[in-house]
Amino acid sequence: MLIDNYNSIRQSIDETCIKIGRDPKEVTLIAVSKTKPLSDIEELAASGVTEFGENYPQELAQKYNEISTPVHFHQIGHLQTNKIKYIIDKVTLIHSVDSLHLAEAIDKEAAKRGIISDILIEVNFAAEDTKFGLMPEDTEKLIREISSLHNVKIRGLMTIAPFVENPEDNRPVFKGMRELLLDIKSKNIDNVDMCLLSMGMTNDYKVAVEEGATHVRVGTAIFGARDYSAR
Ligand SMILES: *Cc1c(COP(=O)(O)O)cnc(C)c1O
Repeated sequence: MLIDNYNSIRQSIDETCIKIGRDPKEVTLIAVSKTKPLSDIEELAASGVTEFGENYPQELAQKYNEISTPVHFHQIGHLQTNKIKYIIDKVTLIHSVDSLHLAEAIDKEAAKRGIISDILIEVNFAAEDTKFGLMPEDTEKLIREISSLHNVKIRGLMTIAPFVENPEDNRPVFKGMRELLLDIKSKNIDNVDMCLLSMGMTNDYKVAVEEGATHVRVGTAIFGARDYSAR
């Protein structure tokens, strides 16, 4: 049962928190349901799971429209400006903002609907060239630019760490992300609330929690391997 997988991840997050003296309530487990059928989400939602992560805007919108139990969806994958309209009023948090252009487009769509969109800034901390996200050294500048927009609110940072055999190899990435968050937080930029840190996936979520993650995004360990052939 999917809920058994979910509960065992949740339990290991809680144990990790207790071990290092964090309150487990500080860590949100996002079940990453991209490519998985709505029935999988329904099954977890029936057991009280509320936070789900999706990558593809149309898939997110379709699941949002068809689900029988209201849940919170997180846009965790790269977002193109022309797809914002599908999800803007359906997501609780957009994790993947990495340019002023994208933030302005979100701001515009949010203003049209009279809402304020919560966003995270995606940092490519490990400087992998295949990934989206901006360089750590460019992060503060972008945050200052975005902070003047009225219909988006920056809540923190997100990163996708490299795939590594040994999750310990990502510890410096997670540690660096937390330092970056605290550094920018200490600048007290108006309209910026540097509280959330979205990092850690199936292979490395425990290390991410040890290093201060507030949101971990776990797919495979809950739903099993993804099959992209049908897409
Ligand atoms: C797919 C995905 C995840 C989940 O990855 P798993 O290794 O299956 O846990 C997390 N974050 C992002 C941004 C993703 O695209």
